[in-house]
Amino acid sequence: RGVRDELGKRVIEGYIADISEQVLAHRRLAELELRYRSIFDHSVIGIFQTTADGHYLAANPALAKLYGYDEPAELIASLQDIATCLYVDPQRRDVFKRIIRERGFVSDFESEVYRRDGSRIWIAENAHMVMSQSGEVLYYEGTVEDITERRMAQEQLQFQATHDSLTGLPNRNLLSDRLERAISLARRNGGSVAVVFIDLDNFKFVNDSLGHTVGDQLLQEMAVRLRRSLREADTVARYGGDEFVLILDSFGGPDILKIALDRVVEMISEPMELEGHELRVGCSLGVSRFPDDGADLPTLLRHADAAMYHAKNQGKGQVAFYTRQLNAAASERLRLEGALRRAIQSDEFSVVYQPKVGISGQVQGFEALVRWHSEEFGSVSPVRFIPLVEEIGLMLPMTEFVLEAACREAMGWRNRRLGPESGISVAVNLSATLLGEPDLVDRVRDTLRRTGLPARLLQLEITESVLMGDVDLTVRVLNEFKTLGLSIAVDDFGTGYSSLAYLKRFPLDVLKIDRSMVTGCECGGDALAIPRAVISLGHSLGLTVVAEGVELPEQRNVLASLGCDEYQGYLYAKPMRPEETIAYLETKTARSEDRAVLSEP
Ligand code: C2E
Ligand code: CA
Ligand code: CA
Repeated sequence: RGVRDELGKRVIEGYIADISEQVLAHRRLAELELRYRSIFDHSVIGIFQTTADGHYLAANPALAKLYGYDEPAELIASLQDIATCLYVDPQRRDVFKRIIRERGFVSDFESEVYRRDGSRIWIAENAHMVMSQSGEVLYYEGTVEDITERRMAQEQLQFQATHDSLTGLPNRNLLSDRLERAISLARRNGGSVAVVFIDLDNFKFVNDSLGHTVGDQLLQEMAVRLRRSLREADTVARYGGDEFVLILDSFGGPDILKIALDRVVEMISEPMELEGHELRVGCSLGVSRFPDDGADLPTLLRHADAAMYHAKNQGKGQVAFYTRQLNAAASERLRLEGALRRAIQSDEFSVVYQPKVGISGQVQGFEALVRWHSEEFGSVSPVRFIPLVEEIGLMLPMTEFVLEAACREAMGWRNRRLGPESGISVAVNLSATLLGEPDLVDRVRDTLRRTGLPARLLQLEITESVLMGDVDLTVRVLNEFKTLGLSIAVDDFGTGYSSLAYLKRFPLDVLKIDRSMVTGCECGGDALAIPRAVISLGHSLGLTVVAEGVELPEQRNVLASLGCDEYQGYLYAKPMRPEETIAYLETKTARSEDRAVLSEP
């Protein structure tokens, strides 16, 4: 400053301070700020500062970009209320604030948020509170990361772990979750839960004969049908192979449940076309219920499974409910299985023969029926053990045994010149699953050659359900059989689903009317309508019509008046041991010779 000195002259007085330190400090601060600014501006992670009441104080370009804005300023101006504008779930902001209040920070706080264009992404936030000296909340600051991809990968993994990749249905893992939820709900409101075990009837056959691609498509179609036949809230899961499990809750009483499940059976057995093959698949359903039959998944499943086996044994397309008796049956089945596996080696199978008789009493042929006399169980009915034979994969050896025995027997009748000039035929039952066996026709040809039986004296009986399987394959195999010279009968006609028109497609010779249609036909009325239609249809297709299970003369008379060609049943004879057939044929032959003599002029 200007001052006067001791002589009164004007002089300037001052001092000099060394501020290098300060200048440097400032510069450093500016640089530092610039550096932080640069981190803020160039960070690939979103960075923000927001007020407690939900306004942005600052946002970096990365955050703007993440949320779909061109500039941070734009984001700050648009997102006026974070709770409602940003979070898909508006409660999320409250949770965020609560955690930060309690702990001072949040870490890896995952939320779904809206971008500017309305699309959704998943973010993870790490943030903390900034406080003033006096302890008030100034603002929150933190970072935001886009974790949409990670989240999707996680969800995908989760989905894969809990769903079946082929059908997209829940798998076993998810099943127990769903059941637990249904059970705890039922506990709370006193309701019940049904667990339904579904097994497809012809799946193995389709899979083996048409290949896995068609098998897979079939399972996918089944998944769609099951889904469609149930309510949204019901669970449809793939349990493995061709097994599905349903969980149904609050279904009302068992009657209503039964109606719903009958509808499921109906939808499953609708025909379908896969890669040019027309297919129909039957199924069997077993049901167990919480709380009556069990309170956890393993128990309920085991009981539903036992009920399913029971349904299977009752025939195609059945729905069976679990009862306590079934449990005992299931463990017996296991023992039975073991005994059956040993049956072939230990010579426990034998074959009996039941005659088929023409209208004037002449024997046309015999049906070969397998018998099992088990050391452990005594005589077991084929109705019980044939399904087991099928299941444990013994159908081929067992059938070969029956076929061989039947052909030898028929050769015996022939060598003794029993029966009519043309000879007595023998019919062997052929299970549907065997049609998929690649060298089946060769095996039959070999057996004929080995035993010397002319092919025309062998008949194969296939059940009607075969006609519901793969039509092309069936037609091809049956045609090969026809080329060998043998004849084909449709067994149990009237028990399956096949329409009459279906028969035309197959090279058949004989139609066997099932016993269920014969029983009661003597009463006339409605009970007669179906046999009448079947017989006339059979004839119009050029087939010989045989009635099974004829027990009463009245039944024979009624059927005869409808034009039925042959009769089989206890009225004529029960199935008999081989040595009995010869005595039986000898008396028959003798009688018809007597008649021939008598009728001579
Ligand atoms: P299926 O082929 O329909 O055989 C006819 C069944 O009806 C036989 O029972 C026979 O004994 C019975 N039956 C015959 N006449 C009468 C009658 O007048 N009244 C009554 N109530 N029943 C009569 P079976 O021998 O117990 O055989 C049952 C089923 O087991 C057969 O039904 C067939 O599906 C199967 N089966 C038997 N043997 C074989 C075989 O060697 N191979 C295959 N794949 N299945 C067989
Ligand atoms: Ca038969
Ligand atoms: Ca039959």
